[in-house]
Amino acid sequence: MRNVVILGATGSIGRSARKVAKDIPSRMRVVGMSAHSNAEELAEAAREFPEARTALSSGPDGGERLVELATMPEADLVLIAIVGTGGLRPALAAIEAGKDIAVASKEILVMAGEVVMEAARRRGVRVLPVDSEHNAIFQCLDGRDTSSVRRLILTCSGGPFRQTPTAELETVTPKMALRHPTWNMGKKITIDSATLFNKALEMIEARWLFDIGIERVDVIVHPQSIVHSMVEFVDGSVLAQLGHSDMRLPIQYAVTWPERVPNSLPPLDLAALGRLEFEAPRRVDFPALDLAVKAGTLGGACPAVLNAANEVAVESFLAGRIGFTGIWRIVAQVLDQIPHTPHPDLSAILAADAEARQLARALVD
Ligand code: NDP
Ligand code: MG
Repeated sequence: MRNVVILGATGSIGRSARKVAKDIPSRMRVVGMSAHSNAEELAEAAREFPEARTALSSGPDGGERLVELATMPEADLVLIAIVGTGGLRPALAAIEAGKDIAVASKEILVMAGEVVMEAARRRGVRVLPVDSEHNAIFQCLDGRDTSSVRRLILTCSGGPFRQTPTAELETVTPKMALRHPTWNMGKKITIDSATLFNKALEMIEARWLFDIGIERVDVIVHPQSIVHSMVEFVDGSVLAQLGHSDMRLPIQYAVTWPERVPNSLPPLDLAALGRLEFEAPRRVDFPALDLAVKAGTLGGACPAVLNAANEVAVESFLAGRIGFTGIWRIVAQVLDQIPHTPHPDLSAILAADAEARQLARALVD
């Protein structure tokens, strides 16, 4: 039995995590939950798990409340499912308090992968991946380190504009971009899936989680989202993990790891699916992947800069202030203009994040 705190219990991942807890009650007990603005749904969640402590993180001491939940003595595992950078402080607090963390929020490892992984090593706690691609790789690696790995291969649905002609990308509206073909997720990550910045963030996330150079993290488009990612070993053998596109599975595996337990998810019917397709990503038309390679190769605070600029650009796109292709342009310009800080500590990372946001806003204006 794992006692779990869910930070971001009212989001898409948080809701799936609550379903998992109901589905496997002998393995997962919810002891704490947070929300940000949705007090009504948090109250509803509190009725589902009456023993759990709850906190609303909005307001001036919001961060403090998240830290309190993340360090609750009775918790063994903290699931971080907050959108944006608000999960970083509670994640570090949980690690310092000796808790394992299950990471859905990719911002944490993108911004501060070196700091977070180093803290986890020092405290001897686990960083368990929830993002479906990294959870798949974690399952394929099955405890092996990456010395026997040639490449990690992240699969990517390609998003709603996989086949959209280059010239039409300019005219994509928020409404069009919010319609994802295979996954049902929060707004920010849905836009990121359309620009491929989601995959860009995941390349950097993989680099830190599995301690591997970004040049060995590859991406392949797989429109059905059934193969969640693959590992190619040095002997040429490739292992893949398959499953429905339902986040309950990776959440459950992070909670029950290293064991597997039955649940109520329907079995995968490959014959009914018929076919699984793969194609190369359109790297030139969707420059997010190459921007990730650039930021990941430069290292330091560059991934944090990329993440921050992208957050501002996505907000501006949703607000109708820039066009779809403007998202890539803003991120590329911010990445070019912010000076590079090697091996930054947390305060240098936060400073680079703030500077990138400010510059991105100025460019939007
Ligand atoms: P949602 O937007 O659906 O949910 C976000 C959650 O975070 C809500 O509980 C929200 O509370 C809370 N929240 C929002 N802003 C803040 C803040 N400033 N401080 C504290 N809490 C806040 O997002 P998702 O569930 O889709 O995604 C969460 C994270 O997981 C993201 O980093 C995303 O990239 C990652 N992820 C998501 C996947 C998915 O399938 N959805 C897949 C893989 C990764 P409230 O509702 O009360 O405002
Ligand atoms: Mg993912």
